[in-house]
Amino acid sequence: IAPTLAVFGSTIFGEMSALAAQVGAVNLGQGFPDTDGPAEVLQAAQDAIADGYNQYPPALGYPVLREAIASHQQRHYDLDIDPQTQVLVTVGATEAIASAVLALCEPGDEVVTFEPYYDSYAACIALAGATRRTVPLRFPDFAVDEDALRAAFTGRTRLVLLNTPHNPTGKVFSRDELTLIAALAAEYDAYVVTDEVYEHLTFDGARHLPFAALPGTGQRTITISSAGKTFSTTGWKVGWLTGPAELVSACRTVKQFLTYVGSGPFQPAIALGLDTQDDYVTRFAQDLGRKRDLLSAGLTAAGFEVARSNGTYFVIADAAPLGVTDAMDFCWQLPRTHGVAAIPVSAFCDDKDAARTLVRFAFCKKDEVLAEAVARLTRA
Ligand code: PMP
Ligand code: GLN
Repeated sequence: IAPTLAVFGSTIFGEMSALAAQVGAVNLGQGFPDTDGPAEVLQAAQDAIADGYNQYPPALGYPVLREAIASHQQRHYDLDIDPQTQVLVTVGATEAIASAVLALCEPGDEVVTFEPYYDSYAACIALAGATRRTVPLRFPDFAVDEDALRAAFTGRTRLVLLNTPHNPTGKVFSRDELTLIAALAAEYDAYVVTDEVYEHLTFDGARHLPFAALPGTGQRTITISSAGKTFSTTGWKVGWLTGPAELVSACRTVKQFLTYVGSGPFQPAIALGLDTQDDYVTRFAQDLGRKRDLLSAGLTAAGFEVARSNGTYFVIADAAPLGVTDAMDFCWQLPRTHGVAAIPVSAFCDDKDAARTLVRFAFCKKDEVLAEAVARLTRA
């Protein structure tokens, strides 16, 4: 493997899931739901196969899905998107992130991102030969520090890679924070790629604000989302990006040579989901909020110090009160010692020390699964 990529090895999510399966642990590591999404959407994929959606889709994605994405942006955020030129369907948000970073960055460019960061960000920045400059979000409130953010921008800044709602912290960026990011991006003439895959999964009135909805940001912003999160279809890998036609076209150029196209029969099924399932999505988010409460209370009772998660599938807990000094070791042992799998937050960080005792738990699981995990964690 090329030396710049050797450090990435294999992802912590896959490794923890494999260990959990091997020892029969309750898997609160990798973020995927254990309950299917809307039956209508599942049926629509079967119908699409029966109806012959079995060959290469068009390069930008099937028109029915691009139209559904544009109308979703209009209905939820009052954003005007041309489905012909401003939408690109991708193989999950993962490919959208890779396409955008590779399309916009060259060797020597710098990318500003927040830390902890989703693991593919660092790898995609490295694939592009660019350098990441991270801005810490500190437990337990994960607020953006203005001085630290300002200090991350330089004459080489090409791109800001933003994620709201944020994995792994559960933070939903505030309007003030996004406005500051927008001002700095404008000052340094940087693009903004904003990963909003958890756009609908927010709790207790915390409202997701799309970065592209802020005044003056539209021309420099690529917005990414994924049906995997909204409809609990993570294995279908239907994602997309939207933005100005020139930027979408640049991403399409890259995407052509990554996968060309993908997820054929799942595309019309997700179109149906976007067009008809707003009520389902509202209920799903409410249910997830309840699950967050269930797990957060259980972890607190088990002795962790638990941060407040306002969105996503995840909550971060500090294991220091339990006497843990290294969450990486702790998470590698936990499946065997307690029968529970979780992810050490240092896996998402350059500054491993800052996250030394922090653990990410996923709560997108059945109530009884969460209860069993809590019981196992409390027992020992
Ligand atoms: N971005 C974030 C923040 C994520 O958490 C994930 C997956 N959980 C992705 C991107 C990847 O999404 P997809 O599965 O659609 O590729
Ligand atoms: N995004 C999911 C998580 O954060 C996992 C996806 C993956 O395994 N790449 O857990």
